[in-house]
Amino acid sequence: MAERGRQEPRRTARLLPDAIEALRMGMGGIPIQRLGTGDADRVLEKAVDSGINFFDTARGYTDSESKFGRVLSRLRQKVLIASKSFSRGAAEMRRDIETTLGNLRSDYVDLYQCHNVASEADLERILAPDGAVAGMVRAREQGKVRFIGISGHKPRILVQALERFPFAAVQVPANFMETDAMAELIPAARRCGAGVIAMKPVGGGNIRETALNFRFIFVNGVDVAIPGMDTEAQVAANVAALDDLSPLNEAETARLQAEKERLGERFCRRCEYCMPCPQGLPISFLHVLRNYYFVYDLKEWALERLAGLARTYRDCAACGECVAKCPYHLDMPAIFRETWEKIQADRRPGAAQD
Ligand code: SF4
Ligand code: SF4
Repeated sequence: MAERGRQEPRRTARLLPDAIEALRMGMGGIPIQRLGTGDADRVLEKAVDSGINFFDTARGYTDSESKFGRVLSRLRQKVLIASKSFSRGAAEMRRDIETTLGNLRSDYVDLYQCHNVASEADLERILAPDGAVAGMVRAREQGKVRFIGISGHKPRILVQALERFPFAAVQVPANFMETDAMAELIPAARRCGAGVIAMKPVGGGNIRETALNFRFIFVNGVDVAIPGMDTEAQVAANVAALDDLSPLNEAETARLQAEKERLGERFCRRCEYCMPCPQGLPISFLHVLRNYYFVYDLKEWALERLAGLARTYRDCAACGECVAKCPYHLDMPAIFRETWEKIQADRRPGAAQD
């Protein structure tokens, strides 16, 4: 489907009412966990210097909030900071908000979200009289939270959430590979006046046609995308993608379609919800190496990195813990076994990977 006829979006969006406009390219806080503080500071400073002013982190992302706080607390009026918590009760949610504020070195957070609301039962829990939303409302009354939002991987649940509570923003996976949000959720958000934040906008780093993909999601109603970035070069490339937000033509749509067919459905979005693995496997990184080996044909590069890992595909004990936690229900025991067997079959006899 070509995108011609649709309107070209602006570089900025009014994501939250009564707040500064957000550059459509925001920054997600997962990859920054991997950096030391010096490198994290540099990436964040590059982001701010490049015009990025929406930053999304989470209580669950280890030291990501603190890293954001080190740099962004100096620029508090110029940036919008979002965080989120898995807490489902009011008291726990209020405790988490206090922790977040301490980490961010700020007396308020612009947007606080219920993290990964995954089912109707989950939605009932957060909306109960003593649920997480009640705790967030109290924090909003105290000026600690400016706006209340929700995140999740199931657009259907998020549509129900918008019907039950005036969330200021919804956060959902959206990219050329994952378009479910565009059918019902984005129109529902528009009707309710809620902002739309795209998580995993480049499929956890799997989508190579990033510029085309960003154009696709912005033309289709996403307000702000929050790709994770852990290098200054990524920041520059992502912000540069906003230079052209014109609708895709047929040839460009075909390029994205070809990428979709190449990646298939079984790909990891690097959200890290499956972690930790009791066997110590770096699950999302193993998915990355699998892609480099099989999808992008960078076999030697992938093998070198595999050789440096203490635990790899063959060490999966098939306990299933990660499968239960993965929002995409990826079957790690099967994927890792198959990956290991194929790599072994690819290699010379006697040169097995240790
Ligand atoms: S199934 Fe394998 S990868 Fe997943 S948690 Fe268990 S041991 Fe780790
Ligand atoms: S395996 Fe699933 S839960 Fe783990 S990082 Fe990938 S997509 Fe996320």
